[in-house]
Amino acid sequence: MPEFRAGSTAQVSYLDELVEAGLLTRTGVHGVYARGQAFERIRLAFDALVTRAAAPEAPEPLYFPPLLPREQLETSGYLGSFPHLAGTVFAFEGDEDDAAAQLELASRHEDWSGFQQMSDMVLLPAACYPLYPAVAQRGPLPEAGLTLDTGDSYVFRREPSSDPARMQIFHMREIVRVADRDTVIEWRREWRSRAEALLRSLGLELELDVAHDPFFGRTGRLLAAQQRDQELKWELLAPVAGEKPTAIASSNYHQDHFGLTYELQTAGGEPAHTGCMAFGEERVTLALLSAHGLEVSSWPEQVLEKLELEH
Ligand code: AMP
Ligand code: ZN
Repeated sequence: MPEFRAGSTAQVSYLDELVEAGLLTRTGVHGVYARGQAFERIRLAFDALVTRAAAPEAPEPLYFPPLLPREQLETSGYLGSFPHLAGTVFAFEGDEDDAAAQLELASRHEDWSGFQQMSDMVLLPAACYPLYPAVAQRGPLPEAGLTLDTGDSYVFRREPSSDPARMQIFHMREIVRVADRDTVIEWRREWRSRAEALLRSLGLELELDVAHDPFFGRTGRLLAAQQRDQELKWELLAPVAGEKPTAIASSNYHQDHFGLTYELQTAGGEPAHTGCMAFGEERVTLALLSAHGLEVSSWPEQVLEKLELEH
């Protein structure tokens, strides 16, 4: 079984309130919820706000489904860094006898994994991952590089929890820059203040922090320290439930990792550098509900206007 992270008392009771209000509906699996109308309205209004915020740089939309070719997960290094978070897709390839045996076990809720074969797909762990090999296929980048938009992409992380902010499947919206080193560094610097201003304009109490990913195992601790030291990741945190604020948006700088992995080159023939600005849409929604109340119609006028939400 994966490690289950029990939410704090405050987090668990916030989830109860959200369910009670019909904002989320439980499925029976921790971290997998159905979103009710009010929740989805807020999420989509925020998604549209990101679209408006990114519009001046006219990012190219490139929307992928929430499945990644397995080969890309194998090449990207994800299984080295986050084997505990990955989700894979298996499927049945047997004959009629196998199908009957599988059904027999499944109907008793026993282990039927012996009848499932690994497929050529895995679940998408981060919205920006499929973009790099896709643009590498086009040949060298244009002179100015590229700015891309993943849309509101579903991503999967195997981290079951009773904290409503820690989901196993959620929407990640990313704006992604692929260019030379200096351009990407400067772009991330600009987005730092832009993202902060955007979220502050929604009345959220924010903290900015240099962060690291939850790398696996002992070598993972080294990778996390390196990532922190080089400030490759920063996060914007806001109160959701409990004492500690939650990361609602983050930005990663991959240096030339994807450039080298996928032979993604700048116009000048150098390995491209990449960086991304990611918004966790469910977490932003949860932070807004926590800051302004579960009833959208009573939110501050200025926040509703910013989100173009009618009363
Ligand atoms: P990351 O790639 O881990 O930096 O994730 C990007 C953004 O997705 C974070 O800033 C969060 O807002 C959001 N996020 C990450 N993990 C989860 C999760 N388990 N549940 C909900 N949102 C998440
Ligand atoms: Zn990304």
